[in-house]
Amino acid sequence: MAKRTFGTNPWTKPGSTSAPPTKVIARPRRTAEVQAYLPEFFRGMAVTMKHFFKNTKEMVLGQKPDPVIESLNDGVTTISYPEERRPYAERFRGLHRLTLRDDASPRCVACLCCSTACPAQCIHIEAGEYEEGDPRRGYERYPKTFVIDELRCVFCGFCVEACPCDAIRMDTGMHATPYDSREQFIYRKDLLMEFTGRDGSRKTANTRHEPGDPTHPGLTREQGEH
Ligand code: SF4
Ligand code: SF4
Repeated sequence: MAKRTFGTNPWTKPGSTSAPPTKVIARPRRTAEVQAYLPEFFRGMAVTMKHFFKNTKEMVLGQKPDPVIESLNDGVTTISYPEERRPYAERFRGLHRLTLRDDASPRCVACLCCSTACPAQCIHIEAGEYEEGDPRRGYERYPKTFVIDELRCVFCGFCVEACPCDAIRMDTGMHATPYDSREQFIYRKDLLMEFTGRDGSRKTANTRHEPGDPTHPGLTREQGEH
């Protein structure tokens, strides 16, 4: 094998002194018509006005098709947001919410699984102990602080998948409101507990992990002490 030296052109055969083949591409002619951009400008405006008059005529004559059902058909495909809204898909991942127990306390046990799984590192949790005398004291903790930075969130849903208690969900059916300050995208525990799922409930249908629930798959505190 020929030894390659510094500066050898890799596109030529080793030892070859001939220059690589070149292809000359002619420069486009810059006529006054091309330079003025006017023909393309009028062509673009013609397309825009064609759709404008077509959509206006359909609206005036009441021929405007349903924006959702007909969205794939020819016709008006725009909707008058926010008066009209397209329904989100069943599995749409919207804003987060913290689900509640029957006593309106958060189901979250501050295990930090969600914040650990979060690739955007936008969940901050500080765990607290329940009050003395509360049956949950020593059995589980609660989130003293629970904050999500919705502006950093990439809506991947990993936090929901990671939660062992079904305490955090993204089934609110809402997208983030366009606020005018960054601080307003910091969602804290109280607000997250206010949101409801699409069914209007602040709870979850999954009750397996309530303390004392006979269907709880884990050990009870009494079993654990023996
Ligand atoms: S949806 Fe993804 S990025 Fe957003 S808080 Fe959950 S884990 Fe983090
Ligand atoms: S929301 Fe779920 S995963 Fe996150 S800390 Fe609470 S219990 Fe753990």
